[in-house]
Amino acid sequence: MTTLLYMEDRKGQEPDPCYLREFDARITDRGTDFVVLDRTAFYPEGGGQPFDLGVLTWASGESNILRVTKEKGVIKHYIDHLPETDEVHGIIDWGRRYKHMRMHTSQHLMSGLVFRIYNSRTAGNQIHMDYSRVDFQPASFTSEDLERIQDECNRVIESAQDVKIFEEDRAVVQNNIADRVLLDLIPASIKRLRVIAISSADYCPCGGTHLKNTSEIGRLHILEKRSKGKETERIVYELLPQ
Ligand SMILES: [Zn+2]
Repeated sequence: MTTLLYMEDRKGQEPDPCYLREFDARITDRGTDFVVLDRTAFYPEGGGQPFDLGVLTWASGESNILRVTKEKGVIKHYIDHLPETDEVHGIIDWGRRYKHMRMHTSQHLMSGLVFRIYNSRTAGNQIHMDYSRVDFQPASFTSEDLERIQDECNRVIESAQDVKIFEEDRAVVQNNIADRVLLDLIPASIKRLRVIAISSADYCPCGGTHLKNTSEIGRLHILEKRSKGKETERIVYELLPQ
């Protein structure tokens, strides 16, 4: 099992685990075009967030990270050539990752606020560096609704709320989230969940990478909404500098 450095407890850690840009690791397995590490700060694609890019370096060389995946619980770092040694150093493409963290944290805000105001669940989401989309169900937003969603998101962003991460018993989480998220997708054997909470705007179990404070998001700007079939609407948005 690879230790996920970005998932470590953020209490008292410096730098914060989600802001870790470099790390040392040992190769525990290798294929023709990938390595498995004992520990990693590279995020594998999943949950609507793309994989991290960057480089792996070692005493006599380096390789680009082409893709990071989680396949049957195994995190594979696909690279363009394999190291000669097992001791490596990973460096994350921080510009790309930080944009994903800003997008991912803003998606929490939008999903949480829309659930609270309209009782619409997030049926799917995909973030990118330049824009993101969230699918809501059931939903039928007017242009005034979209304006309100944008304003409510920006209000929480401007009020500089801490993004809290903590563990909680599954039964407590179930009770707190109502239908915001379907916990059925999380294996029943997992009794403690990692929860992300942003003031009263969102409370949601999640294994992604998050900002420390909403003020880092910038300004949220909704680009459009699209109908995605019966009672499902997609909101597409971008983040602008404040
Ligand atoms: Zn998250």
